[in-house]
Amino acid sequence: MQRVTDSGQPARAGWVRRWALWSLPARVRGFVLAVELVTIAIVTANLVLARLTAHDVLGYLVVVGLGIGAAEMARQVERRRRRFADTPHVNFSSVWTLAAALVLPGILAAAVVVALYLHLWLRSWRGVAGVYAHRTLFSACNAILSCQLAAWCARSLHVLPTDQDRGAWTALGLSAVILVYFLANSTVVATVIALSKPTWTAKLLIGRLNENLLELATLCMGTLAAMLIVLRPWLVVLIFVPLYALHRSALVRQFEHAATRDSKTGLLNAASWRALAESELRRARNLGTSLGILLIDIDHFKLVNTVHGHLIGDDALQAAGAAIRDLVRGSDLCGRFGGDEFVVMLPGSDAAGVLAVAHRIRERIANAEIAPTTDSPLQVTVSIGVAAFPAAGPDLDDVLLAADNALFAAKDSGRNRVQASEAM
Ligand code: GH3
Ligand code: MG
Repeated sequence: MQRVTDSGQPARAGWVRRWALWSLPARVRGFVLAVELVTIAIVTANLVLARLTAHDVLGYLVVVGLGIGAAEMARQVERRRRRFADTPHVNFSSVWTLAAALVLPGILAAAVVVALYLHLWLRSWRGVAGVYAHRTLFSACNAILSCQLAAWCARSLHVLPTDQDRGAWTALGLSAVILVYFLANSTVVATVIALSKPTWTAKLLIGRLNENLLELATLCMGTLAAMLIVLRPWLVVLIFVPLYALHRSALVRQFEHAATRDSKTGLLNAASWRALAESELRRARNLGTSLGILLIDIDHFKLVNTVHGHLIGDDALQAAGAAIRDLVRGSDLCGRFGGDEFVVMLPGSDAAGVLAVAHRIRERIANAEIAPTTDSPLQVTVSIGVAAFPAAGPDLDDVLLAADNALFAAKDSGRNRVQASEAM
């Protein structure tokens, strides 16, 4: 008997309506569905054209077996990594999906992706907060498309089958294949991020260097796995240990990141900012150099939350954090002190330099469109208090207190302004 909801609709329709996919903004949903439709079309074409041999099917079983074996070995590490991931997550299945693209016909490479992502979903990802089935489906489609492009590139450059040796050309050709897989995959992910976040930055789209290196390392291992599968199948097991080590080192880095960063903005959290700031101040004291501190607070932020809700408030925090990070040097220390208050330390800067940065930050945030709201795009302003070492005092707390007093004065004199401490 079919279950029926109160409205008389079949229960299944209600279940479909509750999919997290529908809560995505329309343009993101449109892109996701377009990628999935293109994937279905390509897989169907592959299916129609496929002329499979028993050898192909055996190859498929070997690659899926290796992929599932490796995933089982690293299952606990993968679950923990997924829980701590705050960036596009690099999973290690591309070792086996790229290998499949290089040694199997297109339809079987797609079937490898389906088997491995289904296994990852059922065994490692399901039930982890923030991991949705529709994202897994989308990642699988992205992997299938990347496999197709990589295989096309390998065929065009004549580096298939992978057991033929053409010297340096093989190395160059396979490097190009890796690059094509990497760029195809990353471009699709970056497009989703750009469509999801109105305030994206190039850094956000490209992701961290470490994550990108990890993905490239995984793909390099994929090409080596493809060669071994064809030439010396039993030697593929030697890839398992380095793969597991890579997995664990990625987890340690994620732990470190989670412990030192503010999860909403990606800036340093209060404790790690203070620890690093203390050591920068000691260095400035020893070298006899100056440094500046900015305390930045969003104006009337309670009102933003009250009128537009906390999620839009969070977007405003992220946008302010991104603007601040964008306008300072990589060596400057940017932190979120808590609530809507940010702090920046600019080692080696003089008073004029620190004030110039403060004005640029105030201006950038005042002109940024934070998030689309029902009427017009939301805009926020910030007030900034500026103080410098050694002018404000010998210790970090002296400089912070001076910046705090200046911030208070900036708020008092009408907000959306920069106020230098009296001792500057
Ligand atoms: P002022 O111009 O004087 O700074 O006024 P204000 O309304 O910004 O006052 P205040 O800086 O004290 O407000 C901080 C608000 O930030 C209070 C709290 O509800 C909100 N808040 C703190 N943490 C978060 C967060 O993580 N997300 C969101 N959306 N709001 C937060
Ligand atoms: Mg405020």
